[in-house]
Amino acid sequence: MTEIPGGLDSVSPQPAPVPASSVLKITAVETLIPDDVMPGLILLRIHTDAGTIGHGETYYVPQAVAAVIHDWLARRLLGSDPCSIEHHWRFFYERFSAFGSRGAEMRALSAVDLALWDILGQSSGLSVWQLLGGKARDSVRVYNSCGGPTYGRRPPGEHSEQGWPGHGDIGKPGPLEDNWAAHHAAGDLAEELVAEGYTGMKFWTFDRAYRAHGGSYLPMSTVRECVKPMEEVRKRVGDRIEILLDGHGFFQLPAALRIAEAVRDLNLMWLEDVMRLDNVDTLRDFRDKAGVPLAVSEMFISREDYRHVLERNAADYLMVDPTWVGGISETRRLAELAQGYNIPAAMHDCTGPLTLFAGIHVATAVPNVVIQESVRAHIRTFYDLLIEPNIVIDNGFAQPPEGPGLGTRLRPELFDPGHPGYRITRLQPGE
Ligand SMILES: [Mg+2]
Repeated sequence: MTEIPGGLDSVSPQPAPVPASSVLKITAVETLIPDDVMPGLILLRIHTDAGTIGHGETYYVPQAVAAVIHDWLARRLLGSDPCSIEHHWRFFYERFSAFGSRGAEMRALSAVDLALWDILGQSSGLSVWQLLGGKARDSVRVYNSCGGPTYGRRPPGEHSEQGWPGHGDIGKPGPLEDNWAAHHAAGDLAEELVAEGYTGMKFWTFDRAYRAHGGSYLPMSTVRECVKPMEEVRKRVGDRIEILLDGHGFFQLPAALRIAEAVRDLNLMWLEDVMRLDNVDTLRDFRDKAGVPLAVSEMFISREDYRHVLERNAADYLMVDPTWVGGISETRRLAELAQGYNIPAAMHDCTGPLTLFAGIHVATAVPNVVIQESVRAHIRTFYDLLIEPNIVIDNGFAQPPEGPGLGTRLRPELFDPGHPGYRITRLQPGE
């Protein structure tokens, strides 16, 4: 062990300066909550002295995330090198974890991480998937989640309060109303998706059962009612599309086992978060009894959560949300961690366009990612209001984004200082 001359008292309490990885310097951080489009979203831009702008986002309680970014992270980011991504990540993570933090802090770090990768890509002329090691595949298999055009979004002209995640409106009959169709016209929806080239569709049919009965007990009649749409899909299109079922963490073990038993013969690709994720041992017990593969879970945030799940053999797929766990940097680490257990990783979406882009970058470069979630209703009805260009999904596969960095940008006109929910923190003259 090397002795520090003068003892510990001589060690500065200030963190070491950020090592320079480039000639760039961060000059401003800017956020916007687009509550007139997607109220749970927060959009981030990080500006540099070279004029490069990095883009990031995260989802859920955006006002708290804005406070973390402007009142805390900006103190370190402003004036520092944006290309020292890992140094920033570790610095922030160590401070957050010293206070038991997992929520708004990690979401803020996720948004920042995306923006820093975007800047590194733009300054080097390389796509993020190139920076991550290049292509592991030419395109990324996606499945369609059954959100409709109004799921997670505030309809134009309406000022209703934001709903709760997982409690979204099932919508109404009409084009791209995939949640309504998943309940009332699942066979038609499956045929439409198969015709578009999709090889997977996700159902949320048990959300209504939870609202009607709670999570402790589900009558068999309700279980059968909620399974019917999936049976209809098997009858209509056979095995031409994978069926996935998300329970949004609503149920306790006995209800979850009833659901698993009822879908066992339908050969689902996975059951996801049917049971509340309070206890990994109960989850392992559920996996042993369910007889259906389990995806676990975008509801976990930390590497230790995921390691625990893997160590206990409690999952068949590891589901990761790139803008909740710590950005592209941590998403890649988690996908690699799962590889060591021969458990494939899957990318979560439903929560914003840059989350989708981030997942596709990681999925393009990391062999262990098996599939990416996507919501065609979001992509086709309002992602264009937030980004340019939009993601390209061709015949059920997302194309790796073209161009340097993330390969897209947040629409600059969104960052209107007069818009409610706009904030900017910048270097002062002489700093
Ligand atoms: Mg889910």
